[in-house]
Amino acid sequence: MNDQIDLNELHTLLTIVQSIDVGVVVLDREYRVQVWNTFMENRSGVQPNDAVNQSFFKLFPEIDEIWFRKKVESVATLGTPAFTIWEQRPYLVRFKNYQPITGLEEFMYQNTTILPLRSTDSKVGHICLVIYDVTEVATNRHQLQAANQQLQKLSNIDRMTGLFNRGHWEESLKLEFARHSRYGNPTTLVMFDIDHFKKVNDTFGHPAGDRVIQRVAEVLREHIRDVDVAGRYGGEEFVVLLPDTEKAGGGIFAERLRKAIEDLVVVHDGRHIPFTISLGVADLARPAPEYKTLIERADQALYASKKGGRNLVTVQD
Ligand code: GH3
Ligand code: MG
Ligand code: MG
Repeated sequence: MNDQIDLNELHTLLTIVQSIDVGVVVLDREYRVQVWNTFMENRSGVQPNDAVNQSFFKLFPEIDEIWFRKKVESVATLGTPAFTIWEQRPYLVRFKNYQPITGLEEFMYQNTTILPLRSTDSKVGHICLVIYDVTEVATNRHQLQAANQQLQKLSNIDRMTGLFNRGHWEESLKLEFARHSRYGNPTTLVMFDIDHFKKVNDTFGHPAGDRVIQRVAEVLREHIRDVDVAGRYGGEEFVVLLPDTEKAGGGIFAERLRKAIEDLVVVHDGRHIPFTISLGVADLARPAPEYKTLIERADQALYASKKGGRNLVTVQD
């Protein structure tokens, strides 16, 4: 009887709520719908007459029932509201997205508030769900993310190391190769790869691995001249183009770098991470048909360093 009175009061209040552009659903403790506002009616296509007294889970089979029950039970027990946000759970109930401006998304993103409704005896007799359409926020966020990704692609810089990324570095190599073809200036490439890097990740964790890569990039930057072009070629593979340098000079540079990395102390979470690099040095003294040939030569020299026991410099014959 009490419940009935409360519900009448609720109905009165909800005539105000009806016109609001948010979803309002009141559930009894058996998860049966007691109140279904216009927003819910319009978005779901289910009339209040068909919704009221229906199980919420029957109306929305997509709901993760175990999760939702747990959430609601804690609201009822603690008597405090709970929330769901679209970043963690895109929606509570799946509604199609009809908004013309945000037509990019196929469903409505939602934030939800789950409120305890106390009866006059102060028991939580009902639960109120307030469902907010946040599709526009999500769309904006997604567009921003897409734009950032696009910018990153257009950028020449590898975000993690601050070195040139592979694409831009290769463009620089192409230019240098063209210059070499025309003027015959010596051009050397040093390529190197961190030794047993999988073990660094496995032993110290991926963030520690990232830190190692960043420190290597820093040391590399300290060792090159202004005209040298350093890039991150792959995960833990680096390249340095040394214009106007013979491979003998490149070998000296590579050996200095090898030693500096060997002596480098990287500390992550209080633990010292020892590691080394293997290097390959090659130049264009022997004619090369295309710029990629230089990469292949340096790569072969690097491979020889790996085979030779690592922490080594190999200068191509
Ligand atoms: P080797 O001495 O033969 O080079 O052994 P290795 O373990 O270094 O072997 P490999 O070069 O094949 O392995 C590279 C590993 O580097 C695999 C990959 O999981 C890891 N890696 C690649 N990029 C990153 C990155 O950005 N961060 C971290 N932490 N690890 C990366
Ligand atoms: Mg490696
Ligand atoms: Mg590698």
